[in-house]
Amino acid sequence: MKPRWLSLLLPLAACGGPAPPTGPHVILVSIDTLRRDHVGCYGYERETTPNLDRFAREGVRFDQEISSTSWTLPAHAAIFTSVPDAVHGVVDATGTALSPAFVTLAERFQAAGYATGGFYGGPYLDGAFGLGQGFDTYVYAVRGQRERFAPDKVEVWANNPLSHAASHHGVTNDAVYGEARAWMEEHKEQASFTFIHFWDVHYDFTPPPPWDTRFDPGYEGPIDGRGFVKDNVRYRPDMSKRDFEHLLALYDGEIGWTDTFLGKLRADLESWGIADDTILIITSDHGTEFFDHGHKGHRQTLFDEVVRVPLVLWAPGRVPEGSVVTHQTRSIDLGPTLLELANLAPPEGVLGRSLMPLVEGAAPEAERAAVCELHTLGFELQALRLPDGKFLRDEARDSSVWFDLEADPGEHAPQRELDSGRGARLRDSYTHALAELARAIEERPEGAVATDLSDELRDELRANGYIGEDE
Ligand SMILES: [Zn+2]
Repeated sequence: MKPRWLSLLLPLAACGGPAPPTGPHVILVSIDTLRRDHVGCYGYERETTPNLDRFAREGVRFDQEISSTSWTLPAHAAIFTSVPDAVHGVVDATGTALSPAFVTLAERFQAAGYATGGFYGGPYLDGAFGLGQGFDTYVYAVRGQRERFAPDKVEVWANNPLSHAASHHGVTNDAVYGEARAWMEEHKEQASFTFIHFWDVHYDFTPPPPWDTRFDPGYEGPIDGRGFVKDNVRYRPDMSKRDFEHLLALYDGEIGWTDTFLGKLRADLESWGIADDTILIITSDHGTEFFDHGHKGHRQTLFDEVVRVPLVLWAPGRVPEGSVVTHQTRSIDLGPTLLELANLAPPEGVLGRSLMPLVEGAAPEAERAAVCELHTLGFELQALRLPDGKFLRDEARDSSVWFDLEADPGEHAPQRELDSGRGARLRDSYTHALAELARAIEERPEGAVATDLSDELRDELRANGYIGEDE
């Protein structure tokens, strides 16, 4: 295995300008729709995630990681830009895309001489929404046709009637990891940044064998995991306990199936001899609701089952083994963390901050406040989360409540007293956070830009369920 000091010295030895760095290999894995409480290392009783758990045992597990929202597009835009949704502005899919004025994480690695590759399995990661910025290669892998297309060619998937079915009902991990693996192997001799987006845990819940029966082999009922969001006859709050158990078993099957790819990733890194020079983050963009608050799916609320996500950082020799960060952390902090671990300059113009001080055990002066937002499908929600409480503002209904996350972690008892005590303090924190966001927006007035979707194309997206109530 190549020692790390060699990769540090090699660029210095080159003549005629800096040679591309040979390491490290930075990998960001997003497992779409993965609930924190269905992950083994967060206490789930089923063995859904042995490979993720092993990475956690050898690295750092973050106990209170908070996403910027509860659905795919803005959540990933926040991860890539290290600013909350109000600042990057990509809060809906009906015509906004990330402005090229933002410097994404991939662009920062690219500028440092890294090879950059992104591989995704869900439609909202598409380059048409600006998320391909900075990737040398950015591939929507679902259709299995190995089509590599320019970021502005949204038509490639949108015009294919099979895309929706493939992306929601199909099995996509093989295609996504197959593309990512080939690219990583091709670039194993140089510093690289790889983004891998696994989509199969997202509904529908139709894992391939043996995962379809793995956690509930004896079931013989009507629940097959298909049509989870649209079928209100089979999937409803008062569905039988037995059927509900099977629904969760299918969801868990998708998680177990997806986790096997983390095992493949480890084996590949080891066989290529680069595991010891790899920095790996595994997280999710949001959870999903199984009637926790009467709904199913996500993109409807900002409760913890959809915004509190798993986060594991694995970087042999760079982070302590088996540690747990209990302080609150945020998805906007991931970019600065990866850049610091790769010895690159801290990003300017972002609101996220590196997690390394917390990893190294420093006590923060104050907990990092997380702002979560939802401005889509008629929802106008904003939340301020701290470890012990959440302030929730519903602009559309002109209502404000708060939750005591210590006494009421399930968020079933909204508190309405805002003039004194914790309610007032949470409201003040919320107001303070909004003022910080307003300043950040003022500093970068470009915000989101319009996507180049034609009216015709937009109608097609809607017909296929890409725009509208179905993600
Ligand atoms: Zn998602």
